[in-house]
Amino acid sequence: EEGIKMKISKVGFVGLGAMGSVMSPLLVKAGYQVFGYDIIANIDESSGVKQLDTLDDFSQFDAVIFMLPNSKIVSEVVTKLLEINTKSILIDMSSSDPRDTKKLGKTIEAEGLKFLDAPVSGGVSRAKTGDLMIMAGGKEEDLEIVKDLLSVMGTVQFAGPLGSGHAIKALNNYVSAAGLIASFEALATARSFGIEPGNFLKIINGATGKNNTTEVKLDKFVVSEQFNSGFALDLMVKDVSIAHNLIKDLSSDNPLSSDVYNYLSESLKLLGDNPDHTEVYKVIKK
Ligand code: NAD
Repeated sequence: EEGIKMKISKVGFVGLGAMGSVMSPLLVKAGYQVFGYDIIANIDESSGVKQLDTLDDFSQFDAVIFMLPNSKIVSEVVTKLLEINTKSILIDMSSSDPRDTKKLGKTIEAEGLKFLDAPVSGGVSRAKTGDLMIMAGGKEEDLEIVKDLLSVMGTVQFAGPLGSGHAIKALNNYVSAAGLIASFEALATARSFGIEPGNFLKIINGATGKNNTTEVKLDKFVVSEQFNSGFALDLMVKDVSIAHNLIKDLSSDNPLSSDVYNYLSESLKLLGDNPDHTEVYKVIKK
């Protein structure tokens, strides 16, 4: 059985930003040989990741992982890899648009290559400890090949055919964003009423309104006024935009998703230069 199972030892990692820079060193620690590439970011040599200046040698790796801003950039990198006749299994861990992923999948499969989507949830803190939730789309037999590799970075759950991971990721972040806005409205209102934030947090986190924003983000990033969660607002707007378009097209009713999308994209305009997503609280406060 082992004989037919492709062994993964050399891994390319494209995109060494907030997430890629902490995910890729975990693979080194787990015993993989990891080669990184980024157009801007530089990863510290002590991470064990060998950063290369071009993608030219990326055809030689067993697997190549993408942790990039969006589908358009993933597609550009894939085009480059196809030009250099890659034989690698390709894994898009970015939060991409599921319908773009399906299109890109047709191109990749036409070359006889394997392609999976495996986006993540958990943010920079859970990326650092290898505790991400990884949602995988594609062929289950292809996922088997890279399951050990992905498991280094978190818990892997099969979602469905190619694009399903990206679809669930966008829908998850829409639910998370709706909770974020509701929690910000509630905190700002409680404060105006004269309630101490500490009391607000203790009570809501012991009650039914608790969610990831109240449990993880409010105290650390908002009440503290640090606003440094590591997840940029423009990325959240991208996720909610993908989800909103899916909901509009595939669901018969969408009472909330356009409001959430509009509020976040307006906030992004108001907040200016590359705000953290928790800075939306500054907009709510006014
Ligand atoms: P980031 O902007 O910090 O990192 C992206 C990196 O990609 C940057 O370093 C950039 O220079 C690089 N890049 C851009 N174009 C490139 C190209 N053509 N070739 C090589 N590198 C290129 O973003 P991030 O926060 O690390 O997010 C990466 C992906 O993960 C996004 O799709 C995001 O939505 C998703 N995500 C982020 C978080 C988070 O908490 N930050 C959580 C879950 C998912």
